[in-house]
Amino acid sequence: MTIASVPSASSSGNHFDRLPLSPATLANLQRLGYLNMTAIQAACLPPALLGKDIIAQAKTGSGKTAAFALALLANLNPRRFAVQTLVLCPTRELADQVTTEIRRLARAEDNIKVVTLCGGVPLRGQLATLEHGVHIVVGTPGRLMDHLERQSLQLDALNTLVLDEADRMLDMGFFDDIVKVARQCPKERQTLLFSATYPEGISKLSAQFMRAPLTITVESQHSEGQIEQRWYEVKDGQRLHAVSELLLHFRPASTLAFCNTKAQCRDLVAVLQAQGFSALALFGELEQRERDQVLVRFANKSCSVLVATDVAARGLDIASLGAVINVDVTPDPEVHIHRIGRTGRAGESGLALNLASLNEMGSVGKIEQLQGRESDWHPIAELRPASPEPLRPPMATLYIQGGRKEKIRPGDVLGALTADLGYTREQVGKINVNEWSTYVAVDRTIAAQVASRLSHTKVKGKAVKVRVLNDNDSAD
Ligand code: ADP
Ligand code: MG
Repeated sequence: MTIASVPSASSSGNHFDRLPLSPATLANLQRLGYLNMTAIQAACLPPALLGKDIIAQAKTGSGKTAAFALALLANLNPRRFAVQTLVLCPTRELADQVTTEIRRLARAEDNIKVVTLCGGVPLRGQLATLEHGVHIVVGTPGRLMDHLERQSLQLDALNTLVLDEADRMLDMGFFDDIVKVARQCPKERQTLLFSATYPEGISKLSAQFMRAPLTITVESQHSEGQIEQRWYEVKDGQRLHAVSELLLHFRPASTLAFCNTKAQCRDLVAVLQAQGFSALALFGELEQRERDQVLVRFANKSCSVLVATDVAARGLDIASLGAVINVDVTPDPEVHIHRIGRTGRAGESGLALNLASLNEMGSVGKIEQLQGRESDWHPIAELRPASPEPLRPPMATLYIQGGRKEKIRPGDVLGALTADLGYTREQVGKINVNEWSTYVAVDRTIAAQVASRLSHTKVKGKAVKVRVLNDNDSAD
């Protein structure tokens, strides 16, 4: 898989006429006022028009619909009255919007039939429309499954499958339906997946039925000042220790620390843990269960520092990171933009702290070039602990043996802690119930006491085994 990360700033001057589109389509785009491609269109359309499978991520409003619509229209043979494209959307409203946009873009071609197939509408009308022959079907997974089961929808002529707003479809629990629909499509086809975020499930989904997909991410360049970036020159031997100096100086509540290698991740976590920080590593090759546990603990605020490689951090969507630390400079300047874009989301200001040794200055130069600004250098020596207190996370995680299989729900756990044991709602944080286990964040100062008292009461009428997770615990 390739990752092409394209800053949206590069979108100016991307005329549609650079693409192999018909003169009628180009004229229609002009009429619609689509003069330049948006960044995601400029990145997706050339490979999409070559028939490549694509996973595209860009924020809402970036023009993703036309990025797939122009590709699927180019694939279409209007003289063949059979379903050649299927677009899956999470909701009826979104399906309607997509249908409207496809129709607008298809106006140049003669008589392309687009139909929306969603629930909440009588089947009869849809069946009649399908019988008349359509080229493009846009719909929600549930209703499409209905039609496939009734065999009112034939997919043997299909050449393009689109998953729009894939992240939302996953949120809504459509994973299995999507896989089922995809299985009914001909193997020889193009699959285009669009998403505003890149959660874990997307790679699982794409692994099931996409062919060597190209991953395209359009990172919105943060405007100057929204992320404060500071650079520190270090000797290689100082690097890991410098991370703890940064943590004690800036005291961010949650930090994502990027290393270029797995070995560096391991070393950094060992150093940080030895110094009393709560730090966990995330790198490829962790078992899924271990990975989930690490993410739960970081997201529920019982771990201060998550140390990760770029690959492992892909798709991580964690709100409100206090800081990103680039422990190693990445040789790819676009990856740098990606990394620091994790802090300062949603209007908050962000902090990106970067360590660089002399032999990384070439990579620093490339980053400066891409960002169009010079680095702001600070001496390591100016770092002073902001407080004599160690940096500790506010919460700790309790591990309860038992989960959905035991019919435990978050409310049962919260009830046992508040109603039965008398803790306040504020002392309890996130509750994650998995199939066989449950994680509960509680105020760190009372965690041991809560664990012991909870093991002596009942959750959902049953005694449960509870313990507090430590940093060097692995998942079990
Ligand atoms: P997304 O799916 O990424 O949220 P949409 O595809 O809904 O975004 O597009 C957002 C808006 O931008 C729509 O109103 C669409 O008509 C418009 N738009 C898309 N591409 C272009 C373009 N190249 N030039 C001008 N407007 C565009
Ligand atoms: Mg969209």
